[in-house]
This record gives sequence, structure tokens and C-alpha cells, in this order.
Amino acid sequence: MTPVISVRDLVKTYRVGEVDVRALRGVTLDVMPGEFVALTGPSGSGKSTFMHLAGCLDRPTFGGYVLNGRDVSQLDKRALARVRNREIGFVFQGFNLLPRTTALEQVELPMLYGAALAGKERRARAAAALDAVGLGARLDHHPNQLSGGQQQRVAIARALVNQPALLLADEPTGNLDTRTSIEVMGIFQKLNAEGLTIVLVTHEPDIAEYGTRIVSFRDGRVRSDRPVTVRRGAAVELRAYEEQAALEVDAA
Ligand code: ADP
Repeated sequence: MTPVISVRDLVKTYRVGEVDVRALRGVTLDVMPGEFVALTGPSGSGKSTFMHLAGCLDRPTFGGYVLNGRDVSQLDKRALARVRNREIGFVFQGFNLLPRTTALEQVELPMLYGAALAGKERRARAAAALDAVGLGARLDHHPNQLSGGQQQRVAIARALVNQPALLLADEPTGNLDTRTSIEVMGIFQKLNAEGLTIVLVTHEPDIAEYGTRIVSFRDGRVRSDRPVTVRRGAAVELRAYEEQAALEVDAA
């Protein structure tokens, strides 16, 4: 099987004034199709830098990156942007939705840059993507009419509408309460069960355990890399939450 991400001795050095900041000091890692990798590590350990490189937002200083069988480590900015638009979906901590724009329009946006699709086809695909994250009844809602969890689901639908090979998520539950975090992790687990490859940055150990593998960074290097042996299941946990809530209503 061809890895989705295959990086070799990845080095990224930022020049800040006279000083070189060595953000990645030689990372070698393969992510296979269908994996759900949680990237953890202290602040400053290089997680975001790795995600930038993996997401084709930037190029390594040294080292190789083969994305889905294609060497992307030397591509120029325009070529990187094309690869990014076709192969990668992004989800961020702050949702990054446009205000005064409906859920349907947000999800249509990535399709404006890709293959030329008729408006009708675009809307149909956007509606299907929103339906897949449980927002089929909220197509016309603006972000301020949606909860945090619903906004993140719009962002997930937007990330997936071009059917990328890889979903990259940077602290996607960082702005969400516990229960909503579990809901969002439930969506990631469902998508992953359907075959989507996911790499997610989190500093929360319990969030990492929804994945299949935990890679921990330290000082720009991989410090540990292990499978998740006892995986958390968001669907089961949500049912337990609901039962608990029902008991509390009964007791009141
Ligand atoms: P993390 O996401 O684990 O907090 P980062 O990848 O953001 O780690 O940072 C790794 C190191 O690289 C840190 O020392 C940080 O200050 C530095 N760094 C990250 N991005 C830049 C940048 N654009 N310019 C200069 N230094 C940077």
C-alpha cells in the first residue's frame, strides 16, 4: 500500500533576524491510508510546523515528502496550492467560517477553485456533505445561528467536499466543551471508519485516544510513536451522556 504521507528526515528551519529556529530537526514518518493519527507534544515541539508541511502550505528546508505517491517536497507555491486543493482538507480550532455566509455557501467555496462545476451540482454536493455531518436541516444558517459544534461540523463538511485523500485537523476541539468535543470526535471516527485518513493535532491526551495511533513530538523530533490499544468510542460515550441526562430529568 502507498502511504498517504511519507516524510524522510524532514527539517524545517525558520530564519528569524540573525537566528535560525530549528522547528523540525529530522522527522521520518509514514501515515498509511485509513489511519487516524493524533499528534501530541508540548508547545513549541514542532506540531504546527509539521502540519504546515504535511498540508503543502510550506516547503521543508531539507528532507523528502511524498504525498500519495507523489514527491511534493520541491514543488513551487502554485503547484503546492493545486495539490493542496485537490488532496487535503483542513479543519482548524477557530472553525474559520465566513460571517454572513450560509452553511451551504461555506461548503460550496472550495469547489469554486477546483473543477468547474455547474452551480446546481455544486449545491447538491455541498448539501450532501452537510448531510453527512448531520447538518442537512441547517443549510441556510449563518455561523452566528449555529452552536460551536455545528460550526465545526460545517468546517468539516467544507474540508471534505472535494473528497481529499487526507484530513488535517489542528486542535479541532480546542474551542469546544467536553460533550461537543465528543460529538466532533464522533464525526471524525465515523469518517475514518469510512476510510478517510486523518492527522489531528491535540494537546489533550483523552482526545488523542479517539485515534488509532499517537505520535508525540518533542524538540522538533518524533519522541514516541505507538498504536492506541484501548481506543475511545465517541458514539458509546455520547449514548452514556444522553442516558445520564435522561436520569437527571427523571430525578428532577
Ligand atoms: P507547536 O505547534 O508544537 O507548538 P511549532 O511548530 O509552532 O510548535 O513551533 C516549533 C518552533 O518553531 C518554535 O520554537 C516556534 O517558535 C518556531 N516557529 C514556528 N513557526 C515559526 C515561524 N513562522 N517563524 C519563526 N519561528 C517559528
